Amino acid sequence: MKQKKQIIIFTDLDGSLLDKDTFEFDEIEDYFRELISKGIKIIPNSSKTEAELLDFNEQNNLDLSFITENGSSIHGLNKIHQNLPDKIIISRTKDEIQNIYESNISLDFKNKITHILELEIEVQQKILGLPLDKIKPAIKRKHSIPIKFNGTKIEKNEFAKILKNSGLTIQTGGRIMNVCDDVDKSRAMSKVLQLIRKELTDEIITIGVGDNENDIEMIKQTDYPCLVKNENFDSSLINIDNLIKSDEPSPKGWSDVIKTALQKI
Ligand SMILES: [Mg+2]
Repeated sequence: MKQKKQIIIFTDLDGSLLDKDTFEFDEIEDYFRELISKGIKIIPNSSKTEAELLDFNEQNNLDLSFITENGSSIHGLNKIHQNLPDKIIISRTKDEIQNIYESNISLDFKNKITHILELEIEVQQKILGLPLDKIKPAIKRKHSIPIKFNGTKIEKNEFAKILKNSGLTIQTGGRIMNVCDDVDKSRAMSKVLQLIRKELTDEIITIGVGDNENDIEMIKQTDYPCLVKNENFDSSLINIDNLIKSDEPSPKGWSDVIKTALQKI
C-alpha cells in the first residue's frame, strides 16, 4: 500500500503570507483556505508574539498551530495530533534574556540601540507600522527584546558576535531586530517535525516560506524551500539548491510559490 502523504507548510507571516504594509492576505485567502480544507497543515513560524498569533487565528477564523518569537515557543500541536502537547517553551524568559544582555553588552553598544518597548506608543506604532489596536499584542513579548540598531553593518556583526558568546542571538526581521535566546525558527520547526513524526505514520513533506534573513535556515531545511520577493532583502547570496522564488511580493507571491511547490510534489 502506498504511504499517505502529509504536507506541512511552515510559513513566515509579515512579508511572506501577509502584505508587508497592510498585514492582510485577502487577495489569496480563498486559496489559503482551500489548502487547509485539502488537509494541508499550515504552521505560521513568526517573530510575532503568542498574543498576535492568537489574534491572527481569531480574526481570520482559523485554528492553526504556530511558532512564536523566532522559535521561542510552540503552540497548539495537539490540534495536529491529540497526543502532542498544547505548548512547548523553548526559550528562557524575557527577564533572563534582559539580564544577560545588560551584563554583557557594553555602554558603547547600548548607546547605538533603541529599545522599542521603552518608546511612546505613537513612536512604536510608526516603527512597527501597525495600527494602534495591534500594538498591544505586538509588545507583549515573553521571550525577546525588540530593538533598532543604529550602527554600521560591521558594528551590527560585532554586536551579534558578543550576543552569541553570551548565549543569545539577534534575529533580523522586516522592520526591527529582536534579541532572543539561543533559538531560531529552524530549530523550533525541527522540534515540531520530530514530535509529529512520532505520532503520524504518514510520509511528511515540508514546504518552507519566508522573505527575510531570519527565515533562511528554516526554509533551507524543508523539502521545498520558498522565498517570497522582498525588495529590501538581497537574496542573490542565498545558496539553496532547489529554491523556489516568487516574482511578486506577498501575499500573491505566497500563493505563487506554494502552487509551484505543490506541482513538484
Ligand atoms: Mg517576514
